[in-house]
Amino acid sequence: MQSKPVALVTGANQGIGLQIAKELAAHGYTVLVGSRNPQNGETAAQGIGADAHAIQLDVTDPASITAAAERVRTEFGRLDLLVNNAAISHAGAPGKTLEQVIEEGRASVASLDEVRAVWETNVFGVIAVTQALLPLLREAPAARIVNVSSNVGSLTLNADPNFPYRSVFGLGYAASKTALNAVTLAFANDLEGTNIKVNAVSPGFTATALNNFQGVESIEEGSRAPVAVALDTDGPTGTFTGPDGPLPW
Ligand code: NAP
Repeated sequence: MQSKPVALVTGANQGIGLQIAKELAAHGYTVLVGSRNPQNGETAAQGIGADAHAIQLDVTDPASITAAAERVRTEFGRLDLLVNNAAISHAGAPGKTLEQVIEEGRASVASLDEVRAVWETNVFGVIAVTQALLPLLREAPAARIVNVSSNVGSLTLNADPNFPYRSVFGLGYAASKTALNAVTLAFANDLEGTNIKVNAVSPGFTATALNNFQGVESIEEGSRAPVAVALDTDGPTGTFTGPDGPLPW
C-alpha cells in the first residue's frame, strides 16, 4: 500500500474536475483521474504529472464502476478521498445553450427520458460509485466524500420568489442536484460516527462545457470551494456549502 493519500475524482478529464485533480496532486495526493473516455483521461493525467493516473470510469456503467474499484484496491491499496464531480446538464448533443437547457427542463415540458438520463449520471451514478468505493474509504484513517452539487438545487432558495435563478429550477439538472443533496445527507447520516465525512459543495458559476461556456468564473475561481472542502480533513460532515459559505438545503 502506498503512503501518500489517494483521491479519486470522477469526470476529471476536463472542467472543474480536472482543476480539482490538479490541486489535489499539488497538495500531495496521488490522484486518480476518472474519465469515461480512457484517452481523455490519459491526456488529462499526463498534463497533471507523475502523481496522476487515469482510471476508466463511466458512472452510469456498473461494470466500469466495479472494475475501477478493483483497480484502486489492487494498484493503490487505499482511498482517502472520493470527489463525485461527474455530471451532465442535459442528455442531448453538445453545444446546447444554457437558455435552451433551461427551457427544455421546465416541469411542464421536460421529456421524461431526458430527466431519467440526467438523473442516471448526476444522482444514481453518485450512489453507485460511492457504494462501490465505501469498503476502501472505510479503511482510510480520515476519509472524505465530496459531492459536487449546485446552489440551483437548493429547495430553500428556489422556494423564495426573490431568488434570481428560480427559472433554472427544472426537472433535469437542477432537480438532480436537489436529489444529490438528499443523497449526500443520507450518506452523511448513515456514516455519522465513522471515519468518513460526506459533504455537498457548489462551485461558482464557471465557464465549462456543462453550461456551453456561458459561466462567468474561471476554472480556478469556480473550483475554489470544492477544492477547499476536499482538502479539509478536520471539517464537519453533512454540510452544503458554496463559494460564500453555508448554503440552505
Ligand atoms: P464539464 O466540464 O462538462 O465536466 C463534466 C465532467 O463529467 C466531464 O469530465 C464529463 O466527461 C464527466 N461525465 C459526464 N458524464 C459522465 C459519466 N457518465 N461518467 C463519467 N464521467 C462523466 O462540467 P463542469 O462544470 O466541470 O462540472 C463539474 C461539476 O460541477 C458537475 O457536478 C456540475 O454539476 C458542477 N457544477 C458546475 C457549475 C458550473 O458553473 N460549471 C456550477 C455548479 C455546479 P466527458 O468529458 O466525457 O463528457
